[in-house]
Amino acid sequence: MREKPKNFDLTVVETEAKSLLRQAKKIDSWFLSRYNMNIYRGCQHDCSYCDGRTEKYQVEGSFGQQVTVKTNAGELLARELDPQRRRKPLIKGFIGLGGGVGDAYQPLEKKYKLTRKILSLIKKNGFPVHILTKSTLVERDLDIIGQINKKESAMVSMSFSSVDDAISKIFEPKVSVPSQRLKTLAAFKQKGILGGMYLMPVIPFITDAPDMMENCFKRAAKINLDFITVAGMTLKPGRQKDTFYKILNKHYPDLIPQYEIIYQDKKWGSPTSEYIHSFNQFLLDLSEKYNLPLRIPVTLFKKWMPVKDRIVVTLEHLDYLTKLRGQKSSYGYAAYSISQLKSPLTDMRHSLTSIKGVGNVTERIILDILNTGSSSYYDHLMGLN
Ligand code: SF4
Repeated sequence: MREKPKNFDLTVVETEAKSLLRQAKKIDSWFLSRYNMNIYRGCQHDCSYCDGRTEKYQVEGSFGQQVTVKTNAGELLARELDPQRRRKPLIKGFIGLGGGVGDAYQPLEKKYKLTRKILSLIKKNGFPVHILTKSTLVERDLDIIGQINKKESAMVSMSFSSVDDAISKIFEPKVSVPSQRLKTLAAFKQKGILGGMYLMPVIPFITDAPDMMENCFKRAAKINLDFITVAGMTLKPGRQKDTFYKILNKHYPDLIPQYEIIYQDKKWGSPTSEYIHSFNQFLLDLSEKYNLPLRIPVTLFKKWMPVKDRIVVTLEHLDYLTKLRGQKSSYGYAAYSISQLKSPLTDMRHSLTSIKGVGNVTERIILDILNTGSSSYYDHLMGLN
């Protein structure tokens, strides 16, 4: 590991990593990714609420002031995707780029161009890609992302805490402001590349007001985004909470007592369920009003996505939507059981109810997907028909 001289307040550590591509145990229904990676560990964007600085991720150095660059990322991925080197072929699925503990398009990418190299390998090996970033630098790679989209599928999404440029400058001053991010997303949409808004985290008592949330839906709909996914903010005790509280104290000191009430969970740092309910309750109305699904519609990828993954995602999305309506759901349990099955679902067509969590309704949904490629009930709840 080689430490480079300090560049203003940033320390760049170049390293040769041992591996890059991580294969998830099951498809991730929030991002539809099967694989992900961190090309950079640490993030120059240094958003005040970033969960990546939490101690559990063990990001080296002071978060925001030090970034580790995996300089051999391209060589590693070339090896990891090479079918000749694998005992079992990789299942086809989205490779997720971004988020985690470092944005793939943070300013260092201008110099290292590692993300671009990774994209050319993804294209060469015929995988789909889903990029999640807060940086307009992603537009540099519109050409190659467009080529991946023609060959396979590509999605470009961006995360927001609101669409208010002034608030963004307080909590995430080192990233492109929301109005610029929206322009970038629009540029990808104009090229026929799917994408959405991850409205996460919603900042309690600041960006969670109904009119602010509605503005996000309005702006996302205006540029024809394909979905909007909303999530609250976690505040884990330690580096994450301390950093966020410094900003809160400076700009919104009166809100501290309210934060103390909703952030009592020491383990996960989640706000109370009553608080989550307060903004969840109007999401369904906004989703319907602006015709924006609250999750990435898996139906869009039915031509190539393995059927088991489509079923798992469909059931997890149904679980979310059912609970959002205040109803109980066993779809999530069924999705998990199915994700752990060793035998193909097509072999179990006549014994689906023997799978834990699968009752008669879930059985009908699964059969619908096995027979037609998608579930009409799911399409209805997602507002797709
Ligand atoms: S861009 Fe993402 S990874 Fe980077 S600091 Fe902000 S929230 Fe964290």
